[in-house]
Amino acid sequence: MYIYKDTTINVLLGDITEVKVDAIVNAANNTLLGGGGVDGAIHRVGGKTILEQCKKIGGCPTGEARITTAGNLPSNYIIHTVGPIYKDGDSREERLLYEAYYNSLLLAEEYNIKSIAFPSISTGAYEYPIEKAMKVAVRAIMDFIDKEGKISSISFVLFKETDFILYNDYLKEKILQI
Ligand code: ADP
Repeated sequence: MYIYKDTTINVLLGDITEVKVDAIVNAANNTLLGGGGVDGAIHRVGGKTILEQCKKIGGCPTGEARITTAGNLPSNYIIHTVGPIYKDGDSREERLLYEAYYNSLLLAEEYNIKSIAFPSISTGAYEYPIEKAMKVAVRAIMDFIDKEGKISSISFVLFKETDFILYNDYLKEKILQI
């Protein structure tokens, strides 16, 4: 567990559909109609009420975020965000990934959400290199804490052990561990 200012940062290894927090974040695609990876798992476990809400929303541009309830999942909300597809690592991709994290947090704050869990956005089918993506993710949440700071717990849920180790090694360097 890590502490930055008044916010707790957790790094967890496992399946985000099992995490009980106010909101989990979904690494969705622009249609919001479901897909593979973490998106597929969330819709599969959460049930059809999530897809019904997503259909009404009608899609989401890359870097933005939308919210639904969480169906059968243990959390209360799902924040659906769309990260960029990695092509050549130009600054546009970095900005869009940053915005996906930051806009998810802003939307969470709007809904008075106090605990939120993120998967590693864009690093599966969208092929963003994990180490680069992690640095963007950590920068986005630290900037959010600096500027807003109203969410008390932010978790990163990593599905792969190597990603989990990478996050811990990086955060140990950057943030106070307790
Ligand atoms: P994207 O299209 O944004 O790359 P993916 O779902 O393909 O999204 O992959 C994003 C990350 O989510 C990958 O690191 C993958 O290992 C991870 N992942 C897949 N299933 C789950 C899950 N059930 N819980 C948490 N993370 C998951």
